[in-house]
Amino acid sequence: MKKFRADLHVHTVLSPCADLDMSPDRIVGLAMERGIDILAITDHNSTAQCAMVKEQAQGTGLLVVNGCEVNSREEVHAICLFEDDYTSRKFQQFLDQYLPEIPNRPEYHGHQVLVNQKNEITRHLPNYLGSPLRIDIETIEQYTHQLNGLFIPAHIDRPINSLYSQLGYLPTNLKIDGMQLSKFADEQEIRNRYDIPADVSLITASDAHYTEDIGSAATSFYLYEPTFQEMRWALNRKNGRFVKIES
Ligand SMILES: [Zn+2]
Ligand SMILES: [Zn+2]
Repeated sequence: MKKFRADLHVHTVLSPCADLDMSPDRIVGLAMERGIDILAITDHNSTAQCAMVKEQAQGTGLLVVNGCEVNSREEVHAICLFEDDYTSRKFQQFLDQYLPEIPNRPEYHGHQVLVNQKNEITRHLPNYLGSPLRIDIETIEQYTHQLNGLFIPAHIDRPINSLYSQLGYLPTNLKIDGMQLSKFADEQEIRNRYDIPADVSLITASDAHYTEDIGSAATSFYLYEPTFQEMRWALNRKNGRFVKIES
């Protein structure tokens, strides 16, 4: 078994709040420079920039996972990860149905752009991606799992936009594959604070919006091969695989 360092919460230029330097080529280059083996792209309510980052990583050995950071009706943020382009596209269609048609105001929220390999802007997404979706967190979880994805509530220790800040508890019927702590959080302290069941895996991630943050927090995945299926096993502690927050 080998250790693979994963940063599973990284924004790109597409997120209105992220820096315009967060282009696919810079993200891939900096992740590799900082010893990251598995990178998930998680823009707010969109998977649209994943394909370009994946393309950029081809042949480099870096595993790029398609994902997004949803913002549910309750304003809970969660990381949803998908095994392939087909399932992340299906998820995008689902998101498109529930994203409110509130135009983005770049001067206020920032730009929401898709870029190509040459870093040329190919599209501005019109509707503000930071809005809460018109759908609840449980339905999002169920659809993620229907697509064989992974569902991980984001930065659960934060005072806003976290499962505990918005709902106050972990609903018993919410099927999670783990929970993400913010970058400097202490695992044991958080487990005690929220009484997190011992069989729930915790990860950390950078939640990078700026290039300097890429890879600044990582979780070790102990796998035989860096594949999505093995990541699923590791998060759910199956077949000897497991994850460990780097100290
Ligand atoms: Zn968030
Ligand atoms: Zn985020």
